[in-house]
Amino acid sequence: MNIDQRLEAPPQEKLGLDAGTRVEIWMRLAKVLEGYLAELPQARVAPEVDLEKIRSLLAPLDFTHPHDPLDAVDFVVRNLWDYQVHTPHPRYFGLFNPAPTTMGIVADTLVAIFNPQLASSNHSPFAIEVEQHLIRSFARQFGYDAADADGTFTSGGAEANHTALLTGLVHKFPEFARNGMRGLDRQPTLYVSNQTHHSFIKAACACGLGSEAVRQVPVDGALQMNVEALAEQIARDQAAGFAPYLVVATAGATNAGVIDPIARIAEVADRERLWLHTDAAWGGAVALVPELRHLLKGIERSDSITFDAHKWLSVPMGAGLYLTRRPSILEQVFHIKTDYMPFSVSGANVADPYAHSLQWSRRFIGLKVFLSLLVAGWEGFAAVIKHQATMGELLRQALEASQWKVVNQTELPVVCFVDRRPPEPESDAIIDAVARKIVSSGEAWISTTRLGEGLLVLRACITNYRTDSKDIETLVRALDRARDEFYRRA
Ligand SMILES: *Cc1c(COP(=O)(O)O)cnc(C)c1O
Repeated sequence: MNIDQRLEAPPQEKLGLDAGTRVEIWMRLAKVLEGYLAELPQARVAPEVDLEKIRSLLAPLDFTHPHDPLDAVDFVVRNLWDYQVHTPHPRYFGLFNPAPTTMGIVADTLVAIFNPQLASSNHSPFAIEVEQHLIRSFARQFGYDAADADGTFTSGGAEANHTALLTGLVHKFPEFARNGMRGLDRQPTLYVSNQTHHSFIKAACACGLGSEAVRQVPVDGALQMNVEALAEQIARDQAAGFAPYLVVATAGATNAGVIDPIARIAEVADRERLWLHTDAAWGGAVALVPELRHLLKGIERSDSITFDAHKWLSVPMGAGLYLTRRPSILEQVFHIKTDYMPFSVSGANVADPYAHSLQWSRRFIGLKVFLSLLVAGWEGFAAVIKHQATMGELLRQALEASQWKVVNQTELPVVCFVDRRPPEPESDAIIDAVARKIVSSGEAWISTTRLGEGLLVLRACITNYRTDSKDIETLVRALDRARDEFYRRA
């Protein structure tokens, strides 16, 4: 390449592109966004999966020569349209994956533009103050004393739960931060129920505790942790020379939306001097609704709380929150000194995030929560959550009216159900066939799960703030048709 050519195409434009192209791309993105919203309700929720096709599309792209940027954008848009389960679809009745708020999309775009560095308070004082402000605001919603509360934004609930296991360990065994497990003369144990999220098992491995340290406490008929069984298991472990240190209460289990009796678990935690962690990743959102807040009674007694704004608050992934009423514990766990990190802003009484959480370089996670809340207000979120709870109730009624049997009891919009008619041995087969039929029809997306040790059930969760009564009707009609088809074939 000669010098003239190089001047014509300066290297920085390879990455930054020229102003004209950039404007074209922004216009294209606006079209993509509005097109997605307008066309999605008529589109299939889930694609027909063809992995070979996807691989054959990618194989020729060996990055040896540059592609036109608009072509590249179109390529990705087309394939995201064709090859993903559309979680923002109003008839996605699935896991806790919402349709993102518009202000959340705006926020993630702004974050990519300004790229604030949230390791050091020196670099991003505005972003850090926004997150601190949010941490105090959410702490108050959960009944903490905001002046004494602390917390950190995380990639999601799994990181927040991992943080809980670590803070609990250092609280109970201050030397753990220096010496790790080798410094302890007894094996620490922690207590979950069989409805608790599996991220605690991973976290136990990552903390060096090992998965065996996680004790699964039985649940009662309503799938809530059996508090007597918890106390008995703790006593057995103490007698056997273990060191019980933490108990997890779940507020809104993934399976059936169950909320553990937090206040009663708190009594046991107090008595046994255990760290109480409440995993309210999804269900914590009901704290924003005066009529539903009572479901979380006792959550304010938790030493720490996991809350995921990317679940029921509908911001784009990932936006987790770890909150604690022990204001110095995060620093005790994550405090570190380096020569290369910049000095803190003078007068700041805020810990540098890198010395306050598992992450180091970190994106401005809080902005999507901040902008969404600023525009909708607590009241806007409360209205959405109430609407979704109403849609859940509507679904329960429509199912019962159509010879389905709802098998979980909750005010939250997650509905587990089975066919009212079949004899037990056939139940698994029909549930599986119906779920597959619904997903492959593209009309809706639902899943199956097993409750406790019990039968397979269908599970439908209202996760989308746009889901309305017509979507519920469409789902129930599709379920009825799929069941009829099963019987015709049988
Ligand atoms: C989703 C979820 C998690 C895991 O959170 P991620 O954000 O997926 O990391 C943990 N606990 C509960 C109850 C959840 O719903």
